[in-house]
Amino acid sequence: MSLINTYREWLLTHQEQLLETYHHLHSIAEISWEEKITTQYLCNRVEELGIPFSTFSDHTGLVATWSGEQEGPIIGIRADIDALWQNVDGQWKANHSCGHDAHSTMVLYAIKLLKEEGFRPKGTIKIIFQPAEETGKGAKALIEKGVLDDINYLIGIHVRPVQELYVRQASAAIYHGATMVLKGKVKGLQAHAARPHLGINVLDSIAAIIQAVNSIKLDPTISSSAKVTMVQTEGKNMNIIPDEAVFGLDLRAESNEAMDELANKVKRAIIAAANINGAEVELDTMAKTVAAVPNRLMETIVAEAIVEVLGKDGLAQPLVTPGGEDFHLYAVSKSSLQATMVGLGADLTPGLHHPNMTFDLSALQDGVEILARSLKKLFEQASK
Ligand SMILES: [Zn+2]
Ligand SMILES: [Zn+2]
Repeated sequence: MSLINTYREWLLTHQEQLLETYHHLHSIAEISWEEKITTQYLCNRVEELGIPFSTFSDHTGLVATWSGEQEGPIIGIRADIDALWQNVDGQWKANHSCGHDAHSTMVLYAIKLLKEEGFRPKGTIKIIFQPAEETGKGAKALIEKGVLDDINYLIGIHVRPVQELYVRQASAAIYHGATMVLKGKVKGLQAHAARPHLGINVLDSIAAIIQAVNSIKLDPTISSSAKVTMVQTEGKNMNIIPDEAVFGLDLRAESNEAMDELANKVKRAIIAAANINGAEVELDTMAKTVAAVPNRLMETIVAEAIVEVLGKDGLAQPLVTPGGEDFHLYAVSKSSLQATMVGLGADLTPGLHHPNMTFDLSALQDGVEILARSLKKLFEQASK
């Protein structure tokens, strides 16, 4: 029997189990850094597979290490595990609307498939269940713990909205852009509204800041955007010149270089605009994700796996998307690392982070097989 038949058959006979795992992970959704039950569940599942793992004393997530008898490269496979906090049909709760439950399921079953196939890695597979992707801080925490130090290759996966890919389609890379969230505080001077010249009105400063940020121009062939997304003042009286306001900005850029330029221009514009009426401004970076760094080697290998699973028509070009993903911090932190993130079509609607996000669950099987085949191909490539 050919390998393809064997894999499809295995997936078919394990379909119910796989869906059960997915639905279970979906039902225990927990927000970033609070994925305790999820971590425990994944520990149990990894233990069932006979793979040693370790957890972290100060946060959630786990890393499992499957070593073969032979020396060889260390290949990482990463799934994020956190959910979002959102209003779902009138009820606030942790909700897996970014598909991280699907990612964890696929990584788990890709390993299970290889185990049951009798595969022996010529080297090591390091399975990373990463917490807190949605905060942009989970990958950073694991890097600081040294999880990345010995990894040579790294693969991740993310389900894609229907606007990007249909089910039975996949891409060998997702070129997420860089993102940054800034928070600012403007300090002015209170005065009676009858004597505005004695005060410094921070809402005038905010208006100037919004105008200045909207006027920033970057090379239009590289997509980018900066906008004020939040403004708050404490004042309740409308006959007082307000002296304090807090504001937030969201920045996006296709490349890390464009983000550096954008962030510099935004900061300069904000300081200059706030100074027009003599207000003072402080700025803090609240969150940041880096843009993807395309990796030709990884894309070639993963593309082969995709063609084997979905056929030539199923292989889509790498996706360019303005969303952010902290997976890319791994490659940016370690220049020798070969990394890529698979984009998986799943007819996902209405979109990622939508409270009622749904997708075609048959895509889970495609993801499992693409991941399993990619891992095997990476070991073959490394021993060439
Ligand atoms: Zn997300
Ligand atoms: Zn996500």
